[in-house]
Amino acid sequence: MEVQTIIGLEVHVQLLTRTKIFCGCSTAFHPDRPNVQTCPVCLGLPGSLPVMNRRAFELGLKTAVALNCQIAEFTKWDRKQYYYPDLPKGYQISQYDLPFSTDGFFDLKLGDESGETRRVRIIRAHLEEDAGKNFHDETGRGTESHVDLNRAGTPLLEVVTQPDLRSPAEARRFLEELVLLLTYLEVSDCNMQEGSLRADANINLHIFDDEGRKIPTPITEIKNVNSFRFLEMALEYEARRQLEQWKATGKKLGEVPKETRGFDPQRNVTLPQRGKEEAADYRYFPDPDLVPVIVSADEIEAARQSLCEFPAARRERIAVAYGISYQEAAMIVDQGARFADYFEEVALGCGDGKAACNWITQDLLREWNERRWTLATQPLSAAALTALLRAVLQRTISIKSGRELLSALLDEGANGSPPPARVAELIQERGLALVEDSGAIDRAVAEVLGRNAKIVADVKAGKLQAVGPLVGQVMKLIKGADPARVREAILQRIQES
Ligand code: ZN
Ligand code: MN
Repeated sequence: MEVQTIIGLEVHVQLLTRTKIFCGCSTAFHPDRPNVQTCPVCLGLPGSLPVMNRRAFELGLKTAVALNCQIAEFTKWDRKQYYYPDLPKGYQISQYDLPFSTDGFFDLKLGDESGETRRVRIIRAHLEEDAGKNFHDETGRGTESHVDLNRAGTPLLEVVTQPDLRSPAEARRFLEELVLLLTYLEVSDCNMQEGSLRADANINLHIFDDEGRKIPTPITEIKNVNSFRFLEMALEYEARRQLEQWKATGKKLGEVPKETRGFDPQRNVTLPQRGKEEAADYRYFPDPDLVPVIVSADEIEAARQSLCEFPAARRERIAVAYGISYQEAAMIVDQGARFADYFEEVALGCGDGKAACNWITQDLLREWNERRWTLATQPLSAAALTALLRAVLQRTISIKSGRELLSALLDEGANGSPPPARVAELIQERGLALVEDSGAIDRAVAEVLGRNAKIVADVKAGKLQAVGPLVGQVMKLIKGADPARVREAILQRIQES
């Protein structure tokens, strides 16, 4: 018996517009002040009329083009009717039978080294409005529910894939890559904590019996997963559950109604939710208040022109251009487009991509983490970091001093960005310049060796790791010495003795 896992995703992404999709209300998230970002349109008051937000459409178009979708010349808006307290109109404006884009694909690289990719076909990407948010029982007394309509009317792009994903890990990888692409395109901030991105996953199993006959298990849909890790966990649980269910009941696809389930991360299980409506239950019909949208070839071409270099391509280019590994390039690119720009500026400036990569992904990221900084909040310009790396690479200062200097620059940065010239000043002020005077180093080495006869004997007997403490003692005598050079001098002197 062989089992294949079949997964398709539906992803809702909040588009980065200033205002809502059909009215002028702000999309800035206001969790503490409910119902202040509202107007007659997004409250669904009688007589109010929606007007499409052109920017939302442009961002959707840009994404669809990036996902290799066919763009419809003619597209329209439909009402999807259902009642829920966070949907005051009694319908959601969405796109039903004529979405603005269809039939795209996204090539997902599966391994780091292997060139193997999975082509994930995109069924459609359409635009719609978000609903508000219901809060139940915040007092814990079980007596109150609240509705916040700040979110109602926020523009969403819904991306639906074919069931082309073959494992929970692959589904997670796809979502991570999609999110990275959307942030590179600057169409969404994809902030999952704040609900800017939610994923629904459809999953079933193809079980092949001993004669090779395919038995598909009933499809379930896991709703509203808002983290990469939870998506993978939920799908892993669901795949196990479906296999056990099939072994227990023998029920196949089509023999039970489609089930909607939710993921409970605390218990790491999926649980059944309401029965899923079929399209007919929503009584879709074209929204008579909104005009259809005609998309010209020029607009599609403009969207294509506005695309940036995609993350997958940038990883490959950066690795080759700067002589770093694919993994190192991925570490940089996955931090975001601005971060990759920062790296490239420093790497070009100091002329050593590998050194720039090491300093940025190790020392600098550690310093930022300790200070809870991000690229957006940290003060060190690429030019100042370049000046620092140049000093290290030209052996004006040691690597150790370079690290000290980096901390000092960041400390000073708390009061404003230090200019690149500050690097040379700090080297002076702190006396970090490497001592070039070999006479001084030799004298210090002689002194230290003189009072460490035992260690010297050990080193001579082949215990090379014993050199460390000797280097430390010499460094104490002359602060600006290059440790590598000191070590060399010590070994040479012991050898000659
Ligand atoms: Zn409004
Ligand atoms: Mn939707």
